[in-house]
Amino acid sequence: MNFGDLAHEARIAAQSLLDAAAGTLDPTLRLGVTGLSRAGKTVFLTALVNALTQGGRLPAFRAYGQGRIAGARLAPQPDDAVPRFEVETHLRALTGADRHWPESTRRISELRVVVDFESRSGFLSRQRPGRRLTLDIVDYPGEWLLDLALLSQDFRTWSQKTLQASDGPTRAPLAAEWRAHLATLDPTAREDETAARQAAALFRAYLIAGRGERVALSTLPPGRFLMPGDLDGSPALTFAPLDLPAEGEAPTGSLWAMMERRYESYRNHVVKPFFRDHFARLDRQVVLVDALAALNAGPEAVADLEVALTDVLAAFRHGRNSWLTSLFRPKVDRLLFAATKADHLHHTSHDRLEAILRRLVGRAIKNAEFDGAAVDVVALAAVRATREATARQGRDDLPVIVGVPEAGERSGGQVFDGQEEIAVFPGDLPEDPETALSAGGYRGRAVSDDGGDIRFVKFRPPRLAPERGVTQLPHIRLDRTLEFLLGDALL
Ligand code: GDP
Repeated sequence: MNFGDLAHEARIAAQSLLDAAAGTLDPTLRLGVTGLSRAGKTVFLTALVNALTQGGRLPAFRAYGQGRIAGARLAPQPDDAVPRFEVETHLRALTGADRHWPESTRRISELRVVVDFESRSGFLSRQRPGRRLTLDIVDYPGEWLLDLALLSQDFRTWSQKTLQASDGPTRAPLAAEWRAHLATLDPTAREDETAARQAAALFRAYLIAGRGERVALSTLPPGRFLMPGDLDGSPALTFAPLDLPAEGEAPTGSLWAMMERRYESYRNHVVKPFFRDHFARLDRQVVLVDALAALNAGPEAVADLEVALTDVLAAFRHGRNSWLTSLFRPKVDRLLFAATKADHLHHTSHDRLEAILRRLVGRAIKNAEFDGAAVDVVALAAVRATREATARQGRDDLPVIVGVPEAGERSGGQVFDGQEEIAVFPGDLPEDPETALSAGGYRGRAVSDDGGDIRFVKFRPPRLAPERGVTQLPHIRLDRTLEFLLGDALL
């Protein structure tokens, strides 16, 4: 080999080293999006992907504000076995001629977005090549996350806890039918498929009622009873708690033994694989919370939300002694709790909503003895459906929000046609978060003549005017959210 060849070889080796270094420097993140049903996951993820690929008004998202994002595009996802998050369909729903909210999350799904950007130092010196963030986003029902609590409870403990909870003042009327059926069952009697199916159906009906708008409870495991995903109609969900004696074993061939076996199989074949295969691989997580719904439903819903937040934090707990580490070790280093639908409030209350959630999360952090990941809180609207105005009432100028209620929504004896705009005084959140939490208090003056609560009229998504084929969605604080979740990977 002559000197020229050697130099050439050396150049190639140096280049491949540089390429390898650039490759290892290119960040990859796996972001989880979760929250209980109707919290706003589908809308949030659609808006987030749209902001990355189409841009928007995003001053607090620094890489974008500094002009360092060269572009972002969808790419084939890495996991063939997980359904794709159909962002195009959802976006069409939001922005089409007959604009409407997209279909909600009912199972796990995934999407890969590749973001080309210039690092801050490269951008300043104009020397470094462009870099690439590979972002894998996983959307999954928050109900599944709350199943973590089941892994530390055997069938007897779970039955006892579930029965006890169903005695609470809000839950008891919802649970009455299931409890009446339960009272007819003898756990030691012979196993009976019909009884098991009926118990499971009545128990499930109770859990579903607990998610109703006026009740808005959060902690109602097992999660698949509410969000079955692929298990809809499967025998894996044909079990329910039983009223068991404090001691003793299930007799062979009894209803008790049958329910216990199915509960164990749910834990082993449904709950554990989810945590091992999906949850444990996440680097970042956003937990969406419909805090306004809980505040509006009253103190029991708020207390229940706090328990749910504690359970969520327990799942992300980093402590080395956690018994969970034998099953999986969570590696999430940034965890964001987001109160959604802030566009139902005037901007003067956005900070207050954030303060309320901060207080709730703070208490949950203490309860769960959580430490490790950086935790932040935001009040946001992924898609802002309202604008602000002032309305004169007597001598007062009232801050109002203006939007188009969905067709068929009712208030004040009026049925809306889905076209006409209305102005709503949304009521103020209390300045002191403690007042809001103790009184369950979000009770403004916005109750209509027929007693209907017009603050909770559902608005249609905003009417948009795409410019040159680009659709940017209005939002509240989505840019801050992006900065917290992705900002450090785009430096
Ligand atoms: P998911 O069950 O968590 O996927 O919830 P979705 O994303 O489907 O949202 C449930 C409903 O909440 C939607 O149909 C909308 O009515 C409402 N919603 C969600 N996000 C927003 C938002 O940013 N603004 C407003 N006004 N409504 C929202």
